[in-house]
Amino acid sequence: MIAETIRNQAVILSGAPFADAIKSEVAEEVKKLNDDFGINPCLVVVRVGNDLASEVYVGKKVKTSQEIGIVSEHIHLPSDTTQEKLLSVVAELNEREDVDGILVQMPLPRQIDENLVLEKINPEKDVDGFHPINVGRLSQNQKTLAPCTPAGVIEILKRSNIEINGKHAVIVGRSNIVGKPMAMLLLAENATVTICHSRTKNLAEITSQADILVAAIGRAGFIKSEHIKEGATVIDVGINNISDETLAQKLFDETEIEKRLNTIAKRGSTLIGDVSPKDARRKAAYFTPVPGGVGLLTVAMLMKNTVEAAKKRRLK
Ligand code: NAP
Repeated sequence: MIAETIRNQAVILSGAPFADAIKSEVAEEVKKLNDDFGINPCLVVVRVGNDLASEVYVGKKVKTSQEIGIVSEHIHLPSDTTQEKLLSVVAELNEREDVDGILVQMPLPRQIDENLVLEKINPEKDVDGFHPINVGRLSQNQKTLAPCTPAGVIEILKRSNIEINGKHAVIVGRSNIVGKPMAMLLLAENATVTICHSRTKNLAEITSQADILVAAIGRAGFIKSEHIKEGATVIDVGINNISDETLAQKLFDETEIEKRLNTIAKRGSTLIGDVSPKDARRKAAYFTPVPGGVGLLTVAMLMKNTVEAAKKRRLK
């Protein structure tokens, strides 16, 4: 019992210091490109319709670009934009010599085929890393523009000196934007990788063997104590809202429950990842919080990809 009380809590891997470090490294590179070659890296974000979350994400991307000296443009199209119109906007951006990165914010309205749009972006300007050519390069372990969220997870692990080589990494989630590229990136770092999903049987049996457990599911506090190996590194990619106070009592421990209940009272909900913070804090050695963890790295990695794209295309 005493040992239980004394057992140290997980080290919380806040995203901010890593994101700040990456942004300042990128800002330095932008300055160098500008001073030495007269190149101003430029990112164009295209948003279609009025999805509220997309508006917030795009706002963050544009603001961060400006902060670190990347030229940014925001093209906002109405929600009834046709596929043809969007493809013509993408084609124009592909042609523009001054544009290094093109990002079409998802989700798109129903009349537009998202995969087709992604395929039409010039792979050299595909700073989200979703084009099939870049996905293929990633799976062949070639240098490429990798999807920002999983690339950010690798930065957190490396910059925290958490060993990946030879470790068992288990990813819960197999989406194209997080789970699958996460698997490829961890494999490239010589982890032994297992991918789980909604049809996986005996999930806890598998996840509880993970030295590094990455949760990218989209279900609030789904990963519990029985899923986590003692001393594991737990990376929580999920972003969910909960409004139920009783559920919050179950998922947050004494260090944060009061704050979370206040947030629910004030705003109607509070953000939580796919992992129960109460359980991860008790059982893991390292744990990324939500909010303030992986999410902060995503935008920083987008900036990094934009500068990489500028260097590759313009310094040939
Ligand atoms: P997604 O496309 O909905 O994929 C969810 C994955 O979780 C699927 O592969 C699904 O399996 C699996 N899954 C669902 N229920 C499960 C269960 N009960 N047991 C095991 N696996 C289960 O989601 P996503 O786009 O990858 O995003 C995942 C989470 O990350 C979301 O909360 C999202 O908001 C967040 N996210 C955060 C960032 C960031 O910047 N921090 C970026 C992107 C996404 P099946 O394939 O079998 O359906």
